Amino acid sequence: MKLTEIRSTLREIGVSPVKTLGQNFLHDKNLARWIAEQAEIASEDYIVEIGPGLGALTEFILAKGARVLAIEKDGRLAKFLREHFVNAKIDIKHADALEFAARTLLAQPRVKLLGNLPYNIASVLLLRWLTYPSPFSLVILMLQKEMAERLAATPGTKNYGALSVQMQFRYRIKLLRTVRASNFFPEPDVDSAIVRLEPRDARELPACDADVLVDLVRRGFGQRRKQLGKLLREQVPNWDEAAAAIGVEADARAETLSLEQWIALANFVRPIRRAEAKEEYFPVVDEKDRVLRAAPRGEVHANNLLHRTVHILIFNPAGEVFLQWRARTKDRHPLRWDSSAAGHVDAGEDYAEAAARELEEELGIETELSEIARLPASDRTDQEFVRLYRGEYDGPVRLNRSEIEAGAYFPPSIVTGWIAARPGDFAPGFAECWKAFCASAQTEL
Ligand code: SAM
Repeated sequence: MKLTEIRSTLREIGVSPVKTLGQNFLHDKNLARWIAEQAEIASEDYIVEIGPGLGALTEFILAKGARVLAIEKDGRLAKFLREHFVNAKIDIKHADALEFAARTLLAQPRVKLLGNLPYNIASVLLLRWLTYPSPFSLVILMLQKEMAERLAATPGTKNYGALSVQMQFRYRIKLLRTVRASNFFPEPDVDSAIVRLEPRDARELPACDADVLVDLVRRGFGQRRKQLGKLLREQVPNWDEAAAAIGVEADARAETLSLEQWIALANFVRPIRRAEAKEEYFPVVDEKDRVLRAAPRGEVHANNLLHRTVHILIFNPAGEVFLQWRARTKDRHPLRWDSSAAGHVDAGEDYAEAAARELEEELGIETELSEIARLPASDRTDQEFVRLYRGEYDGPVRLNRSEIEAGAYFPPSIVTGWIAARPGDFAPGFAECWKAFCASAQTEL
């Protein structure tokens, strides 16, 4: 929209821009078109736009043929957009983007996030929307220039801080260009900038305990002028040794550590201990799940022999299910999402014993389990007879990081939509277990 159009439209719909909603409307059409182009939109994409306003960007997104979900907090603007974009492939939601559960977007195969964000909510919104697992394959945002510089900042610069490290751990971030305040009506007090965030493949960086990393980073940048050795005295009592191990001076400050050095520090504080390679023996069974003999793991897998597995689904009091993201070092299905805990039945063990052991080994918890399904061995279960258990748990889980990269609770409806839209995100055995769980839940109702 041109400046004259923006003014006349606002007059017609009786809206004067609200500062607290960050209502600064973009009136440079070429720039709006350029922003939409950065998202490399294909017609099969699902685009989420935060704060569409009068539709400056929306128009160019729709022109690419993609479906759009536009979330606008101002009801008057949402009403205008509905009347303006009739018959278009757009769903205009009158809502606060901060209240929207971005994880529901996992139920779409390919989602991109775009927006000229209201500045006062940008940092909270980024931390809420861009958590892991990210539903977005690409994010293009216009932000206050200083915020954009913080996101993309490199070590040793004044903008480099906790937000930079946290976001760069998950995303590759590039500052695309700055935009003058004069491109907006009304003019904001400061310039803006456009950033591009692309989720990283987890293997781009070494594995570490993300909770430890975030804790160290937040504390480390808490007082920028102070030396890390003093700030992290409690978390890293042997700081001199840690500094030497990660390759920084003993008097280093937070801003001098690269992302890789922060990861190395997290690993110094809480190393990921790989389980010792020991010869495991599994019971080999016949097609009726009767034990024939015990055989080493390697032989069982190499020869596709029928064997046994347990899967456990843990629910919190809110009814959400805990899923684990399998470690990158797993020989089968690394970096796929899976049941809360899962594992082979060992030789000499029954299913229920294996379930209790796996739960303790992988999540560090003990709780009563009930069997909810039995699955026959097939290609889809990797030739495993599966027994599926469920349990309730209200408390912290202690992830075994040698087995699990990360984990989180999800509402079951999100899991169902996510599996349908992105089956490749999951270990195949889990998809079968989830079907069985849904069938058992239906029977219960
Ligand atoms: N996209 C339009 C453009 O480029 O001209 C408008 C951008 S303007 C900077 C920010 C928009 O976000 C406004 O339309 C405002 O009403 C909306 N907004 C503010 N807070 C919001 C929130 N919490 N959730 C959704 N939209 C919000």
